[in-house]
Amino acid sequence: MDLRCEGCAGCCVDWRPLAPEAAGSDRDGRRPPLDDVYGLAPLTRDEAVGFLDRGLGDAMAPRLFEPAEGDDRVRIDGTDLAAVDGRPVFVVGLRKPPKPVAPIGTDTVRWLDACVFLDPTTLQCRIHGDEAYPRTCSTYPGHNLALDAETECERVEAAGGGERLLDGDPPADLPAPAFGPQAMGSTVFAYPDPDDLEGVIARIRDGETTVGDRARFVGAAAGSRPGSLSVDRDRMGDARARAREADSWAGNAIRGWHERAGADGRTVDLDDSARERLVRELEDGAGAPGTPGWDGVDS
Ligand code: SF4
Ligand code: SF4
Repeated sequence: MDLRCEGCAGCCVDWRPLAPEAAGSDRDGRRPPLDDVYGLAPLTRDEAVGFLDRGLGDAMAPRLFEPAEGDDRVRIDGTDLAAVDGRPVFVVGLRKPPKPVAPIGTDTVRWLDACVFLDPTTLQCRIHGDEAYPRTCSTYPGHNLALDAETECERVEAAGGGERLLDGDPPADLPAPAFGPQAMGSTVFAYPDPDDLEGVIARIRDGETTVGDRARFVGAAAGSRPGSLSVDRDRMGDARARAREADSWAGNAIRGWHERAGADGRTVDLDDSARERLVRELEDGAGAPGTPGWDGVDS
């Protein structure tokens, strides 16, 4: 596998407004998500705990799913949810606020939803190579290549974003995929108290989750036991409280970007130096790890 990622960030940014016909969709599968986030990278339980331990509990958000035909399901706020034993199934991923970016080989800076850890100026990941770097990101697009499924890199190429997938042989040391029966309790979780979700599901569906909504799912993921449906109530409660109280640069930056952003896909009305100042104010200057730039980086 060999990729040319410079100037791309196609797997970290919602670039549907730039080329809707070439972009993919998280809603293609048999169990479409309730939310409309593009390219959500699911975290393992241990990764979610790692973010909590670093005070980054406010960087994560849940995803729930509509059931496929024949699935166990539970109905909350008028919405059918995929469930196991009456418990709604969910994953946890990284939040994507609007940021001023020029991805997939474009020059014009636009407001597009982008991963909280994406440096909008270099289009590099702020936690690349760090212990917190999610497995889904470090192995991408290995599983797609192994399954002969379309990659985001090829979609970017189809959108005219330049040559991206230089060598499509999957790596030999790919870990188990994030989904499948082995994933229960380690990447895919079941929320143990469905009766508490009244109102929460409507807000997830409408893209209007609160701090408390997100924290309850982060808590349940952190309290889950890999390979099972069971949840450790003490760990769940502790993790939920830590997620609710988190006050990191990431959570503050998400708020700051939402306050400043223009409409989805709109051109950013800032020159380069004003944009850099804003990124420094909201991210680097507030504690975000820096990125090295592309000089000397192979691909
Ligand atoms: S963690 Fe890094 S690589 Fe993964 S989606 Fe976010 S910015 Fe992209
Ligand atoms: S080339 Fe592929 S892996 Fe690299 S940033 Fe673009 S979409 Fe992501």
